[in-house]
Amino acid sequence: MAPQTLSSVNITILGSASAQPSSTRNHSSLALRLSGDVWLFDCGEATQHQIQKSSVKMGKIQKIFITHTHVLILDVGDHIFGLLPVLAGRLNGAGGMADASEDPRLQLDARDTQEEVLPLEIYGPLGTRAYVRNGLIYTHTILGAPYVVHELRFPSDPPDGDHTALPPHACELPGRNIPQADGVWRDVFADALVTVSAAPIHHSVPCVGYVITELPVPGKMDPKKYIPELKRTKTPMSVMSRLQQGESVELSDGTILCGPERRAGRKLVILGDTYDPSPIADLAMDADLLVHEATNAHLPGIDQNTKAEDTYESVEARAKSRGHSTPQLAGAFAKRIRARKLLLNHFSPRYPGDDDVNEQAKKIMQAIGKLAEDNFGGPVICARDLMSFDIEPRR
Ligand SMILES: [Zn+2]
Ligand SMILES: [Zn+2]
Repeated sequence: MAPQTLSSVNITILGSASAQPSSTRNHSSLALRLSGDVWLFDCGEATQHQIQKSSVKMGKIQKIFITHTHVLILDVGDHIFGLLPVLAGRLNGAGGMADASEDPRLQLDARDTQEEVLPLEIYGPLGTRAYVRNGLIYTHTILGAPYVVHELRFPSDPPDGDHTALPPHACELPGRNIPQADGVWRDVFADALVTVSAAPIHHSVPCVGYVITELPVPGKMDPKKYIPELKRTKTPMSVMSRLQQGESVELSDGTILCGPERRAGRKLVILGDTYDPSPIADLAMDADLLVHEATNAHLPGIDQNTKAEDTYESVEARAKSRGHSTPQLAGAFAKRIRARKLLLNHFSPRYPGDDDVNEQAKKIMQAIGKLAEDNFGGPVICARDLMSFDIEPRR
């Protein structure tokens, strides 16, 4: 059967805050909609609430990709604290009882599991599986469907094991521990339409970025080039669909018709927190969209909270020392990988996210966008919570 193509690729920002959420920015999460499916990238606190406020459908979430777990200092849990509620909500979770066998809801669960249900897949660095398992077990959460956690293991991580003494949750399926090869995790997921690869990026803790690549799509078809030939040789018109897929077809008189060459698909690069994403640069080349953090900026004269003694250099040094970037660093990386568009996110709480209605916030976000644009030379979008846009196919 001819492979289908993605009917749409859409990005919805569920959270654009850094360490502290505010009334206008939630913790990090981004929903990628591929045709009907929803994939989440990071799942900060209250992501479920943000999903309810957006047009993203909870029941369509198929995969969740975590960039870092943050069990250390600073930014604690801002990319993962919303994962358990989303899992429980998505998989019909219910609070259990200490002795689960007495729970009448188990009757229902047993019936549900007779149907074949694909597990919800979670990808993340070491600790993601243990975090989910411990969280579900210690809260006696019963799920109505299975899940699996695949971990991207760094060379310094143990190659095997689950990183926890607790046995798997009743709904947990065995996940893969994926080792790096040549410094990256290539094709951790692949189907007929897209692949997902990942690579480490520099942050204060182990952190990864993801590259989602649409496989080559059918080229532009010019029917005038084919129809007269098909008519002449009395070839069924159904051959057109094979030509459309880029195949070659031999006609009864020996003529060979070649379908249009397939074109490159869309490429999205979604990074976690970083002060230097260089290790992902090769995988990320020529992205249609780069999502890069810009936690801190130096905005004298625009941001009233700018300290007199601060310079761009001091702000950049401070951002980097905490594992973060400035708009200029994000813009430079976008240029380096020849991205077509740059989306900035993960903003400091001092930059409010209501720039659609608040003049001062608008000034600040425009200035941040401009700083990135000057280094990038391409279009820049500053993330606002619940903002949503499509990534159009390449021409
Ligand atoms: Zn963060
Ligand atoms: Zn972080």
